[in-house]
Amino acid sequence: MIECKNYINGAFVEGSGASREVKSPRTGNVIGRFKESTPSDIEQAIASAKKAAPNWARTPAKERASLLFKFRNILLRDLDLISAQISEESGKTLAEAKAGLMKGVEVLEYSLSLQNSDSGGRLQVSRGVFCEYRREALGVVAGITPFNFPAMVPMWMIPIALAVGNAFVWKPSDKVPLTSNLLAKAIEEAGFAPGVFTVLQGGRESVENLLDHPGISAVGFVGSSPIAQSVYARGTSRGKRVLALGGAKNPIILMPDADPEIATRGIADSFTGCAGQRCMAASVLLAVGEVESLIDGVVEKARALRPGKEMGAIISRESLDRLNASISRAVSEGARLLLDGRNPEVSPELKGGYWLGPTILDGVTPGSSAACEEWFGPVISIVRCKNLSEALAFEAASAFGNACSVFTRDGSVAERVASESTAGMIGINVGVPVPREPFSFGGTKISKFGSGDITGDSGTEFWSQLKKITTKWADSPDKNWMS
Ligand code: NAD
Repeated sequence: MIECKNYINGAFVEGSGASREVKSPRTGNVIGRFKESTPSDIEQAIASAKKAAPNWARTPAKERASLLFKFRNILLRDLDLISAQISEESGKTLAEAKAGLMKGVEVLEYSLSLQNSDSGGRLQVSRGVFCEYRREALGVVAGITPFNFPAMVPMWMIPIALAVGNAFVWKPSDKVPLTSNLLAKAIEEAGFAPGVFTVLQGGRESVENLLDHPGISAVGFVGSSPIAQSVYARGTSRGKRVLALGGAKNPIILMPDADPEIATRGIADSFTGCAGQRCMAASVLLAVGEVESLIDGVVEKARALRPGKEMGAIISRESLDRLNASISRAVSEGARLLLDGRNPEVSPELKGGYWLGPTILDGVTPGSSAACEEWFGPVISIVRCKNLSEALAFEAASAFGNACSVFTRDGSVAERVASESTAGMIGINVGVPVPREPFSFGGTKISKFGSGDITGDSGTEFWSQLKKITTKWADSPDKNWMS
């Protein structure tokens, strides 16, 4: 049983609010507890962050990077320990947990590069007159993260926000709070000053308190679309810079000429990986023309994946019940089950967990819930399309815009999808087209509220501001409109 804490002013302290349980999705057993943060806990946390922020911002970028480098080495040293914790509280397989943490480390490594690459700029704009820009921190900033990547999504934000000199306040998902204490321990061991990094446990009320607090200048949010939209609206109405990433319903366009092995493996991995609980998972297969043997290949590969072995669990009983009900409703509306993952066989010690095997629905109608709504589980809905134009029209009509992939061997088809798709991240023969650093991560439409992206160079822009300085020391011989 883990007692999960807040991390405020360099100390692990209990919240003063209601006590909450954390359950393992793999077994249904209670594995930890935490207490919600109250407004006075949040007040205290922001006060210590505000105190620490100016010193941290004045610390040379190279010194900030050297602490981040220590943080990286501790994460790598403790990779197995942290991954086991991620797996236990989120239900992912150990391999998925490790891969997520390593993607977070990749963002951290990108943030280390800022010490050398982001040196500002200075130009003589007219005789004796110089313009200069300096990248500066925003002050105290906050990150609010979802359950499905307990370390990776926070690590999209933490390293870059710290590298550019902000004090960072993290509100982890209340469904997976335990990993946050391991990351805070790593920060503490690396030697960051108290207040530079803060963890506040809690749910909706904590988020609202952070959004309303005048001491927070920017908020990064990742979660479902309705909440992303409300966080964006509330935060910006209080004058904050907000970037809020939302949910997804990602299509894969399957062309008849696709390479069978690459396509069937890519599609099966995309919708079943992390048990379909990732915002880059494919959940709609736009089957163009005659692709029966390819679909058979996807079914065969997905059928071989066993929940509890190659596949992780669904986050909660409520999510599992919702998924099972959604599948039943789609079938009652006329969809055909090519693979039914409901009530799968699992080993006896996992019987109390929340399990759903790979599920494939065929003949899904374009306007239905199975085709349009985010379900967030290992389910893919096949929508039949006569041609590529019909598939692209379906994609364009989606309210979401996170990712869109195509499997084809035709370069002109690939180029058409890349240029006409309305999503923010496109995959060409890649089922989970997550951009690697320094390319930034972010979607369009209701998959993202705010401008810019969350990682890479775009993340650096989000977590910092440019100050412009114009200087003239001596009387300039040049007389122009600036004089
Ligand atoms: P969620 O929206 O329920 O929760 C996200 C965060 O908001 C959590 O920290 C939670 O405590 C908090 N929260 C919950 N209810 C709130 C409310 N009413 N007001 C304010 N804050 C609230 O999301 P989730 O279920 O934890 O995560 C899954 C969702 O996240 C999916 O929709 C998935 O697509 C999305 N996601 C998106 C991306 C992306 O990059 N676009 C990445 C990962 C996950």
